[in-house]
Amino acid sequence: MGKANTPFRYILTSMDQAPAPPHDERLDAAFLARFKLLDESGALDDLAKLRKENRELDTLVNDAAALFAIADIERMIEFAMSRIVERFIPTTLVFIFEGQRGTGLRQYHYRGLARVAEEFPPKAYAALRSHLAAFRFPTPVETLAGIPGLAPFLEAADASETDFVLPMQGIDGLFGAVLLGKKLAGGEYNDLERMYIDRMSRFLSIGIQNGIHYESAITDAKTGLYNHPYFLRRLEEEAARASRRDTDFGLIMIDVDRFKIFNDTHGHLAGDALLAAMAGAIRRAVRAEDIVSRFGGEEFCVLVVECDEGSLLEVAERIRGGIERLILPFEGKELSVTASLGCCLVPRSQRAGLSTYLDRADKALYRSKEGGRNRVTLYRAGLLDRAAELRARGGAAPGGSA
Ligand code: GH3
Ligand code: MG
Ligand code: MG
Repeated sequence: MGKANTPFRYILTSMDQAPAPPHDERLDAAFLARFKLLDESGALDDLAKLRKENRELDTLVNDAAALFAIADIERMIEFAMSRIVERFIPTTLVFIFEGQRGTGLRQYHYRGLARVAEEFPPKAYAALRSHLAAFRFPTPVETLAGIPGLAPFLEAADASETDFVLPMQGIDGLFGAVLLGKKLAGGEYNDLERMYIDRMSRFLSIGIQNGIHYESAITDAKTGLYNHPYFLRRLEEEAARASRRDTDFGLIMIDVDRFKIFNDTHGHLAGDALLAAMAGAIRRAVRAEDIVSRFGGEEFCVLVVECDEGSLLEVAERIRGGIERLILPFEGKELSVTASLGCCLVPRSQRAGLSTYLDRADKALYRSKEGGRNRVTLYRAGLLDRAAELRARGGAAPGGSA
């Protein structure tokens, strides 16, 4: 033990004081004696260990920098997993944390290298949550036995084969836990491994909480869709990408029909619930890579990637039909609405600014309203008067201007 306690300062001074020997005399007796002394004192072992720790910390800092550049929480966790399993594979690893206010717990479970669909019971997390602040990093589960109130957690920890608990802490304070199982290869975690998982989970916690804030900054709380400012940003990016890839994309503007009357008749709560249900219907009608946003009020906008006029109309028609078929059970009633849609193709070589295309989709939407609502209109430059004929569909209420 005395060997490992050699003060670091000693190594530096003794090395500084050693005269630099001429190259051919490196192995002279005096040098060897000093070397032996250093070796026996444990200084060389210490140095090797410090070097290793230093390398590990350097890797960690790089990992942290890479982690903080990721916006998506799932990708952050996958990145952390990929770095952890380079060092050791835990039998189980669970990330459990509180999402945005009111959105409940989020959980990511791994067994070995695979993500599994297991659930840590919320009441087990709640029991842990009230004690989490007192835990030192990382806390062995076996030291928690007998703590009053922790029984539900200990039971779940047993089922999920958790051996260590690490609190997750971000700028808002505690918000979750990392639950670490034994090493798959057997044996105890060594100091470096503990240090790595400890620091990595601290960085990951900060990253995830940033991710939660980022999500809420780009999301509309009522519908869970992207908000207007974020949509405009993505629109710019998508336009640049489309011209690089030499593809067209489309815009679909959606406005609920007679929504004021709906609110007046059924109340604002029903209106809100309907907007949320509509968001789901729109999402189901498009592909994952299409961008669905709430533009404000009862208006939505969808960016349809890589399409032509025909497929754009198909998507818009699918959205219209999905909304029309939507039934919202509310206070014993079954409510439904229709919507009017306007769409326009944004060609790969956009000659006009992007706001022009948004405006065109809006004009087409206006035509749908004028034409009787619950229908899709495609904007065609110069042919707007004929555009209304393109897709006049559905048994909407008689005319009226929007
Ligand atoms: P039109 O078919 O011409 O679009 O008729 P409309 O009644 O839908 O149009 P108008 O623009 O007159 O009214 C939009 C209504 O949408 C007014 C407002 O009460 C309602 N609305 C906007 N945002 C929300 C919301 O977040 N929740 C609820 N419940 N209603 C909303
Ligand atoms: Mg409107
Ligand atoms: Mg409306």
